[in-house]
Amino acid sequence: MRTPTTRRGALLAILALVSTAAPALAQVTAIRAGRLVDPEAGTAATDQVILVEGGRFVAVGGDVRVPAGAEVIDLSGLTVLPGLVDAHNHLALTYKEEPESNVYYLTYVLDSTPLRAIQAASNGMQMLAAGFTIVRDMGNNGNYADTALRLAIEQGWIPGPTIINSGIIIGGMGGQFWPTPEMAMGKDIVYPEYLDADTPDEIVKAVRQNALFGATVIKICVDCKPWGYSVDEIRLFIDEAAKAGLKVEGHVQTLDGAGRAIEAGIWSIAHDSGLDDERHKLMARKGIWRAGTETPLTLTGHTSPGRYERTVARLRNAYENGVPLTFSTDADYWVPGRTRGEVAIEFIETWKDAGIPPVDILRAMTVNGYGVSGTTDTRGPIGPGLAADLIAVPGNPLEDIDALREVRFVMKDGMVFKRDGVMTPAEFFHGGPVNGWRIR
Ligand SMILES: [Zn+2]
Repeated sequence: MRTPTTRRGALLAILALVSTAAPALAQVTAIRAGRLVDPEAGTAATDQVILVEGGRFVAVGGDVRVPAGAEVIDLSGLTVLPGLVDAHNHLALTYKEEPESNVYYLTYVLDSTPLRAIQAASNGMQMLAAGFTIVRDMGNNGNYADTALRLAIEQGWIPGPTIINSGIIIGGMGGQFWPTPEMAMGKDIVYPEYLDADTPDEIVKAVRQNALFGATVIKICVDCKPWGYSVDEIRLFIDEAAKAGLKVEGHVQTLDGAGRAIEAGIWSIAHDSGLDDERHKLMARKGIWRAGTETPLTLTGHTSPGRYERTVARLRNAYENGVPLTFSTDADYWVPGRTRGEVAIEFIETWKDAGIPPVDILRAMTVNGYGVSGTTDTRGPIGPGLAADLIAVPGNPLEDIDALREVRFVMKDGMVFKRDGVMTPAEFFHGGPVNGWRIR
């Protein structure tokens, strides 16, 4: 469950009083882990037992006894670790060579929001199969397909990662597009991909619209246009979002834009093209999350050798400056022959090329991912009281990060989604919203 906001939390508390939610699972599951990795400590312990009950971890350790009657899952030949986080994906957007020549302007004209929501459900399962138990879904999702996906997963209709979703990206008129007057005026063809907000009143209204329609983070275009948002305007976004308990991520592409976002105290910065040594030092000092979206050269056509060289150098510089790094992909396209999850995991190539040690890549993919998602106290780490999400791989990712390419086992909320390398999601499917249709 995502961290409740103040108002949303109060609403849910009231609804819970009159709710007839299904009782928690009584069955105890005991997982035998051959090796259990703690990414935060950078250590691994052998022969551990993890107990799960009611969708949560209840005990973890080398001396934990398996209770009589517990279902035992034997992962003694594998390395168990917490689930991975992609801090920037677009699950309801899949642009492709055919028919739109990889131009996403056309995707949202050709693909309806309902179709994209179903694509998102599939992309979410593909991410979960690759070990990503949390995905921050950062806009370009049609008319709130991201909220529908989050609710479908939280209510218990379908399996998927825990979704932190931004709703519609808020920008000055046009957003990331450079629309023609015919597109923008009267026909509203820019909407729903971007929400226009050019004045303080519009900024407040746009934040409230996204919060109303189920966003759990706010995403803004800081500098998609030469005029961009000022420091004061970014602060207005942050203050208004805070009223709903939400953080603000900035799409940033210029040095000036990054400077303004950092000065305003934004929560996280997406993309790396506006980030240099000076800005990295400021981000490290202020604790601003970096979601650099470092596309690897191996995803042919989605970066260039020159651009990749700069991306690797910037990531290295951010690491050396101690910037809080998250693993983020910006995956929103189809790569023939690969699942969305396989596209996402490919991004470890960039991190390896930046010379970042496996333990710190793993921290970016886990501990820091929970941090930027705001779930550290509820979901992510393997510890008593937290949601029972974990994955298992044959190798040891502390020694070889490529071990993460072969996720053999995935548990989400205490339910087995993947076993022996095969997806077995049957227990996630129900003829109704078993976790409660009142979840919003
Ligand atoms: Zn993006």
